[in-house]
Amino acid sequence: MYIIMLGAPGTGKGTIGKILSENMNLMHISTGDIFREQINKKTELGQKIEGYISNGLLVPDDVVIETVNTRLLEEDVENGAILDGYPRTEKQAKSLEEFILKNNKTDKCVAIELSVPDEEIIKRIVNRVTCSNKKCGAIFNTATKPPKKEGICDVCGSTLKRRDDDNEETVRKRLAVYYENSKELVEFYKKNNAIYSIYPKDLDKAVEDIEQYLKNVNS
Ligand code: AMP
Repeated sequence: MYIIMLGAPGTGKGTIGKILSENMNLMHISTGDIFREQINKKTELGQKIEGYISNGLLVPDDVVIETVNTRLLEEDVENGAILDGYPRTEKQAKSLEEFILKNNKTDKCVAIELSVPDEEIIKRIVNRVTCSNKKCGAIFNTATKPPKKEGICDVCGSTLKRRDDDNEETVRKRLAVYYENSKELVEFYKKNNAIYSIYPKDLDKAVEDIEQYLKNVNS
């Protein structure tokens, strides 16, 4: 099964996606994480996409699609994956359907749409800090969920980092970009697949509701 985490930045796609990934034994793939790694490593791809990301714009579809299709052919995602931040446009959604058909996969795509009011999103994002250890990736919030020791991850002890694009100006741009595409994406999944929309106010309850939905959709 491919679980598609839809939602504006800061709605909890990463946090919830990682919990679902553990509970369902499916790899968590975040296009944002892949791109940030490429930028840190200063690869050719990293240099090509850096400007889009720091300005809160979408990376062009052909670049994203090629990156994801390559990743989805790896062995550890043979049985599906949790896709966090992909697809973000209708073209990417169509490409994912084609990829599944072409590779003779019978997997279902199920979309989970997370909706949170914008002002709450901005508060979440400007205070967000993430563990720099890629394998951990724990997310904290200096206002609502601070780490026990400032700048240090409670889970693995690595340093915490603030994302360069997590500032109010870029967040507002990223929100506008998200809303430009979200309507047609949601419509696409309503028409072609299954979609569950939720305001994840309480994290544990949201995960419970999503897992219940996924069980129902699979039975
Ligand atoms: P995220 O970590 O999901 O917030 O993504 C960070 C940034 O990476 C976004 O603001 C975009 O610039 C870029 N990005 C991530 N996923 C995609 C995608 N599916 N399509 C286009 N750009 C993307």
